[in-house]
Amino acid sequence: MTEATCPICEKEFKRVGTHWARGRCPYPKIPPEKRDMIIGLLMGDGSIPVQSGKDNGIFHVPMVNRQFLEWYDYRMGIFTTGVSLKKTAEELAENNRKSGFSPNAEAENYHDMYTVWSRAHPYFTRLRSWYRSGSKRIPDSLDLTPKIAKFWYISDGFLDVDRNRSPRAAIRTISEADRQDFLIDLFQEQGFDPDFRRGTIRFTRKETREFLEWMGNPPPGFEYKWIIRSRDRYDRMKKQAYGEIRG
Ligand SMILES: [Zn+2]
Repeated sequence: MTEATCPICEKEFKRVGTHWARGRCPYPKIPPEKRDMIIGLLMGDGSIPVQSGKDNGIFHVPMVNRQFLEWYDYRMGIFTTGVSLKKTAEELAENNRKSGFSPNAEAENYHDMYTVWSRAHPYFTRLRSWYRSGSKRIPDSLDLTPKIAKFWYISDGFLDVDRNRSPRAAIRTISEADRQDFLIDLFQEQGFDPDFRRGTIRFTRKETREFLEWMGNPPPGFEYKWIIRSRDRYDRMKKQAYGEIRG
């Protein structure tokens, strides 16, 4: 691990997390705009793996989209520890062959998976309450902000492109599929009126544009999820994001 500067005492440490854990300096506060990003990602691909002992929680974001993770790691600053390769396409294909999930899995159909780990922090410990039921659940008290929705959408959302019609934005959330009213309320409170079928929140074509604008600019690596005017451009940007073609 590279040296990091504690933002409170401004000294350099090989393990700044240990410096905080020992109480030499208090844990620095995670600012609200970073918290919204974390909450949105936790609704999607992010997780706080269960650990034994009294250690503080660690937030884990595994994704194929390396470009986004580089940006996310940079934005998180002192709170994350860099992008690393989690599993290669070959390893993912092999896992799926061995587990029987996909007996004929071939590496060429998989992407390398990257990951960003946070440092341990009391804020992530508090977010473990999402797991109280035994699996991750969005708390009833959650209110969406454009930023929370944005990081949920880049994680679990997609543009549903069909034939020659303009696409519909959608968010797949199988693990919350039993909470239709709650999920619809989240968006109705923000003035949207999506429907919910087969574990997927779906916006109308008309609302898709308003929803994308409401969330604001896409983060690097996920621009394609905002492209509703051109199917060709959507496909090209998507391939670019996953390193299939060079920009
Ligand atoms: Zn310090």
